[in-house]
Amino acid sequence: MTRPAVRIDAVDKRFPGGVHALDSVSFEIGEGEFFGLLGPNGAGKSTLISIAAGLTRADRGRIEILGHDVVGDFRRARASLGVVPQELIIDPFFTVRELLGLQSGYFGLPRGNREWVDELLTTLDLVDKAGAITSTLSGGMKRRVLIAQALVHRPPVVVLDEPTAGVDVELRRLLWAFTKRLHAQGHTIVLTTHYLEEAEALCGRIAILRKGRLATLEDKRELLARHPFRFLDLELTAPLRQLPDGIVDLVDAHTDTSISLRLHKKRDSISGVLETLRHAGIDFTDLSVREPGLEDVFLELTRDGGDGRAAS
Ligand code: ADP
Ligand code: MG
Repeated sequence: MTRPAVRIDAVDKRFPGGVHALDSVSFEIGEGEFFGLLGPNGAGKSTLISIAAGLTRADRGRIEILGHDVVGDFRRARASLGVVPQELIIDPFFTVRELLGLQSGYFGLPRGNREWVDELLTTLDLVDKAGAITSTLSGGMKRRVLIAQALVHRPPVVVLDEPTAGVDVELRRLLWAFTKRLHAQGHTIVLTTHYLEEAEALCGRIAILRKGRLATLEDKRELLARHPFRFLDLELTAPLRQLPDGIVDLVDAHTDTSISLRLHKKRDSISGVLETLRHAGIDFTDLSVREPGLEDVFLELTRDGGDGRAAS
C-alpha cells in the first residue's frame, strides 16, 4: 500500500465554551488525490486544516503528512504541506515579492527559488503587483498572494480552505485552472469549498463533515449514484389551484405554473406520478427529469435531524 498523503487518526478538538469542533475524526487522503472536504459552516473544516498545519493542537489523535507527524515531526510535515488559509490574513508591511522571498527563506530556500516565484507570479497574474505593498491590495489580489505564499516551497500536498469564497468569476476560473494544473503536476490537492458545483467539477473523493463528525467519505460518482432521489420538473398549462393527494409530499418547489417534484428512485415511479396528475386534471407543456447534483446530496446529508447518511 502506498503511504497516504494525509492521515487523520481519531482527531478530537474542543474549544473553550464547550464547542466540540472535531469528534474523533479519522480518514486518509491518498497521494495524488483531488480531495473535497465539504460541510456546512461550523462543521470543523478549518479547525482540521489548522491542526494539519500545526497551528492548532488537537486534544487527542494525530495527523501525519506523508508519514510525518505534524506535532512530533513538525518541520518535515510543514515542508510537505502548503496551506491557503480561509482568512485573508497577510503581513501588511512588505511588497508581494519581499513576502514571497521571506517565505522562501523560512523554508531554507533563500536563493534559487526566484524562478519558481516568478512562475507563481505569472500563473496567478500577479506580475504587475510584485512591487506593491500587500496592505494596498484588493481582496482578490490578497487571495492570490496567499496562494503563492502557500506554494513557494513546492509542497507535495496543497490544502486550500475556501479559496473561491467571495471571489469574482474571473479569479474563480483562474483558480480552477491553477489547481487543476497543480493536480496534473502530481500534487495532492485538498479543497474546501462552499460551491458544490466546484467540488463536483474538480474533486474525486469527497468527505463531508457535519458537526465535527465525518458524515460521509465517498467517491463523488458513487455518492451521486447512491443518492436516492431524482427530480421531475413540470411546466403547467394553467395556474395550479390545488395539489392532488399523493403529490403534496413530493413537492420540492412550485410556483403558479411550474412544479418541481422530488421522487424517491425506488418508491415513486415517474409514470405513476404523471398518472396522478392527469387524474387531477393537471396538464403540462414541458417535462424534464433531473438527476441529483452534489448540491442535492449535500443538502440531504447535512439536513438537521438526519443522521448524516443518505437514505437508501
Ligand atoms: P468550518 O471551517 O467548517 O466552518 P470551523 O472549524 O471554523 O468550521 O469551526 C468549527 C467550530 O468550532 C465552530 O462552532 C466554531 O465556532 C468553533 N471554533 C473555531 N475556532 C474557534 C476558536 N478559536 N475558539 C472557539 N471556538 C472556535
Ligand atoms: Mg472554515
